[in-house]
Amino acid sequence: MSRKGKAVIARQVNAPVVVEQIEVDSPRRDEIMIKLAACGVCHSDLSAINGTIAMPLPLILGHEGAGTVVEVGEGVTDFAVGDAVISSFVNMCGKCRYCVTGRPHLCDVGAKAFAALPDGSLRTKDAQGKPLNIFSACGVMAEVATLHVNNAVKIAPGMPMPQAALISCGVMTGVGAVINTARVAPGASVLVIGAGGVGLNVIQGCAIAGAGMIIAVDLADNKLELAKQFGATHTLNGGKEENLVKTVKKLTGGGADYAFECIGLGKTVEQAFRAIRKGGTAVVVGVARGEDATSVMTASITFEEKTLTGSYYGGARPREDFPRLIGLYHAKKLKLDELITRTYAIDEAAQAFADLEAGRNARGVIVF
Ligand SMILES: [Zn+2]
Ligand SMILES: [Zn+2]
Repeated sequence: MSRKGKAVIARQVNAPVVVEQIEVDSPRRDEIMIKLAACGVCHSDLSAINGTIAMPLPLILGHEGAGTVVEVGEGVTDFAVGDAVISSFVNMCGKCRYCVTGRPHLCDVGAKAFAALPDGSLRTKDAQGKPLNIFSACGVMAEVATLHVNNAVKIAPGMPMPQAALISCGVMTGVGAVINTARVAPGASVLVIGAGGVGLNVIQGCAIAGAGMIIAVDLADNKLELAKQFGATHTLNGGKEENLVKTVKKLTGGGADYAFECIGLGKTVEQAFRAIRKGGTAVVVGVARGEDATSVMTASITFEEKTLTGSYYGGARPREDFPRLIGLYHAKKLKLDELITRTYAIDEAAQAFADLEAGRNARGVIVF
């Protein structure tokens, strides 16, 4: 049966989000309906609000959710009512060339399921009966959502839900960039530019991987303090550094082994590339605007064998990686409690985004 509940919606670019009563249709074949328990407030949601990521509006926000299955559609065998699940903002079809080679985060179906379910349809409408798009086939900043089974991962019971939600985007993206994409080696020196929600997770990923030196860079001193709590051995305020690249080269004795850019700006990507040593790897994790470009010295790619690469969603294989990350949390190696600066009721969503924009939180989480 269809269910009603509140949802956080972006109706206009650059306008505050609104909380509205919506109606969500029953799951059809290969779909499940989830009652959400928590949803992280992520920078990508903000990017959809301010147009950095061009999304069709009106849009139900949210792609970092955790909750419980309340109804399953026809043909669903992997989920049952009562199961705890985390959303995956990429659909994993399991059949395309990327899925079958272990890179489901690049799934061809997932790339198309951007603002609707994978088949292009929607189960969500507003109080006037008009359809509402859903962010990344999720739209889980809502009390209830219907997802395709390939956008959800079942987890073992016993995981606190706000912490579980964070795994599905910020933690996976940051920690995954380190352990899946770059495969940072023990003892390595690492530069991390940007200590926001994802940057902090890159930093803790480096700590988990056993990096020797972790240099965190941000413009905000409160973020640099957090960076230390998450494992940074050195912090630099980018606004006060006259020559960041020179400072990093001096600290590392010639350049960092790895650099992670977690902002999404050509200028800082260039700094990351220049700050790595010969044979080093610079990884772009930040999401840039479409018109943004990066320029690097071509000869340094050849003569210094430098690598510039990207990491999308931390190279996630959600069905494998989400349980692994939960295991690291239970083993007290992955900091999730410390990431949650503040929780919000759904009616406080506009405040949650204002706090995100002002950089007040490591992570804000809406708890339903
Ligand atoms: Zn996100
Ligand atoms: Zn696929």
